Amino acid sequence: PRQILWFRRDLRLGDHPALAAAAAEGDVLPVFVLDDALLAAAGDVRRAALADALTHLREATDGALVVRSGDPARILPALAAEVDATAVHVSAEPFPYGRRRDDRVREALDAAGVAFVETGSPYAVTPGRVRNGSGDRYKVFTPFSKAWLDHGWRAPADDPETLRWCRVDDLGDLPAAPAVEADIPTVSEASALARWHAFLDDDLDDYDTGRDVPGDDTTSRMSVHLKWGTIHPRTMLAELERRARGRTGRRMQSLLRYRTELAWREFYADVLWHAPHSDWRDLTDALAALQYDEPGDAFVAWQEGRTGFPMVDAGMRQLLAQGWMHNRVRMLTASFLVKDLHVWWPHGARHFLDHLVDGDIASNNHGWQWTAGTGTDAAPYFRVFNPVLQGQRFDPDGEYVRRWVPELAHLPGGTVHEPWKAAAGYDHGYPERILDHKEERAEALDRLQATKR
Ligand code: FAD
Repeated sequence: PRQILWFRRDLRLGDHPALAAAAAEGDVLPVFVLDDALLAAAGDVRRAALADALTHLREATDGALVVRSGDPARILPALAAEVDATAVHVSAEPFPYGRRRDDRVREALDAAGVAFVETGSPYAVTPGRVRNGSGDRYKVFTPFSKAWLDHGWRAPADDPETLRWCRVDDLGDLPAAPAVEADIPTVSEASALARWHAFLDDDLDDYDTGRDVPGDDTTSRMSVHLKWGTIHPRTMLAELERRARGRTGRRMQSLLRYRTELAWREFYADVLWHAPHSDWRDLTDALAALQYDEPGDAFVAWQEGRTGFPMVDAGMRQLLAQGWMHNRVRMLTASFLVKDLHVWWPHGARHFLDHLVDGDIASNNHGWQWTAGTGTDAAPYFRVFNPVLQGQRFDPDGEYVRRWVPELAHLPGGTVHEPWKAAAGYDHGYPERILDHKEERAEALDRLQATKR
């Protein structure tokens, strides 16, 4: 019998459990549905990435990929009827919108006598599965990551023994890619594998220390591929396991550190699965009484990278230029918005999601909540990043700042972090600081105190 594979965040053919399950049953009609509710929230950078990924996926399916626009709960039963398919196969979707949508689609297919089959998910361990001894979720990362490792994951799925695409006459147009300023990478299965192997060969060995130096730019940049599912994380975990054999010392440390970062992605998806309200609201109500300011001119200066704090501005400009920002600087710019500008984290999270090509509701919104002190609680609210010290520590030679802030490119070495101390600091139009960090830090702590009264 014919089967439908409904692609969502799994835009590849290799190590694809749902595709393998569909192909084992019969010929497969590959489908992608452009869902307005998701597209409206995506921003141009991610729409452009999606258009690119779908173009490659249509090629990879020998031109069989069907693209439709509208409500999946209407489109999938209609396609199933058109090709006489008995089942729609998917990778399970753990995020709040996707779960609600899939419930509706399952119901509509049920009514039409078509099965809805979930096999695997975009995670090594499907969110919700890792539990403690009492069957509850882990609230803190480290015990989660240990249990996640113990839980283990299956080996990558074999390619289907036979894979025959089924075809319809009206394929539907691929979405047009909006023109974007940001220089974004190619999003395809081939480019994901190429990037992954280049990282393993060139930069994995020094990852443990190199990952914190934004100017070196040696992190894997796999986030965009994990976002769109052009690679499955367990393909990566299996390769790490192979490369762990015989490794010792710093090289082993680096490999384990990389695996831990993949575990953070799984952790945040798990947190969001258990607490679907935490996509746009505080996970905990510990800071429910905290007073925030409405976003105003200073918020716009932050968005545009004109705060007068070089490391913050470099990060915000990298975001606009590449649709990506280094993790260290994501933490710093988020801290600056919440604790120096006193703006509630969802405003910043929204801006990030509008511009990140790897924009992911779990990693982004929980990354923000971690910084804002409303989330999984490793960084309490009273810990405030100092934007100058962060620059001096993680960009000691000033390379990162000079790369992204041309008005400071004339300043040598680490002096870029304090243009107010350099005679020629403002000669090329760099803006003055919009606030006094010491004062705003004190203000943030006062506001925190006030919640306790
Ligand atoms: P690498 O250092 O090479 O890490 C490898 C992989 O591990 C990443 O691709 C990612 O999948 C995972 N990872 C690493 N760090 C984290 C982390 N802190 N949380 C979750 N997963 C992690 N990541 C996203 O994928 N999408 C987002 O929208 C996103 N928004 C963020 C917002 C804030 C405020 C913060 C502090 C972090 C955010 N992150 C997000 C996490 C992290 O910054 C990025 O995953 C990382 O910078 C991606 O670059 P990379 O692939 O080169 O990372």
